[in-house]
Amino acid sequence: MLIDLHCHSTASDGLDPPDQVIRHARQRGVDVLALTDHDTVAGVEEAAAALPAGLTLVAGAELSCTDADRGSVHLLGYLFDPGEPVLAAERERIRTDRTRRGEAMAERLVELGVPVSFADVRRIAGDGVIGRPHVARALVESGVVRTVEDAFGPEWIGVGGRAYVPKYALAPERVIELVRNAGGVTVLAHPAARPRRVDGLSHWIARLAAAGLHGVEVDHPEHDEAQRTWLREIATDLGLIVTGGSDYHETGAGHQVGHESTDPQAYERLVSQAYGTVPVVR
Ligand code: AMP
Ligand code: FE
Ligand code: FE
Ligand code: ZN
Repeated sequence: MLIDLHCHSTASDGLDPPDQVIRHARQRGVDVLALTDHDTVAGVEEAAAALPAGLTLVAGAELSCTDADRGSVHLLGYLFDPGEPVLAAERERIRTDRTRRGEAMAERLVELGVPVSFADVRRIAGDGVIGRPHVARALVESGVVRTVEDAFGPEWIGVGGRAYVPKYALAPERVIELVRNAGGVTVLAHPAARPRRVDGLSHWIARLAAAGLHGVEVDHPEHDEAQRTWLREIATDLGLIVTGGSDYHETGAGHQVGHESTDPQAYERLVSQAYGTVPVVR
């Protein structure tokens, strides 16, 4: 069983439309796929409509959080009721602020003499939730940097960079509560991926566990073997569910859909604790 619980589409900063993500997953032998776009479930309907027999779709979102001590962090929310009004309103508030922030970042870039405009960013993002990858692609188009990776450097839009602007987000404890109130479950996304600080990580995860966190994404492309071993131990000690996800964004770069997997028993445990909605099967 190949169970990939983390991937993106054009509904946020991925490059494939949701139906294409489903086709890629199918081609790569994925059995269960969670669509987890940043702060939206807008791609789920299209993904569900494209679902072939034998592939299960888990509706989810990667929710932006700000922790007082650790800064920007991500929580994967799964199987919450998409219509639950409090969480839906917060997702919308974050998306609205992402647009404001995209405009602010474009303005900063103009001040720095870069020939870009927010219209470029908007065109690149299409209908998707605006994120720094769209700004990065606009920077590449402008010719001032060669690659998206270069755009994410400290010179430009990396955290603390000259054109970096923070966005509105909630405390992770609050997001855990909101997702739970909407019948969903939460998993801490890529806790050891750069530029995440690893000092104090186990205490912090324990705090989130006390707040109701359900799981930890241990198997992620940016975690090395040592980090995986250590995170698996922390999660297991705290009684948290261990998950895996590819964090797929595009076919051209990064890791492909199905590159990481979740143990079937862990997956069943996660699903059994959610009641907001159910996985979609044809
Ligand atoms: P945002 O949520 O708008 O701040 O953008 C964060 C997103 O940018 C992440 O989810 C990744 O998809 C992407 N990202 C972050 N760092 C890098 C990097 N160094 N190179 C390429 N993409 C990155
Ligand atoms: Fe992303
Ligand atoms: Fe993330
Ligand atoms: Zn992601």
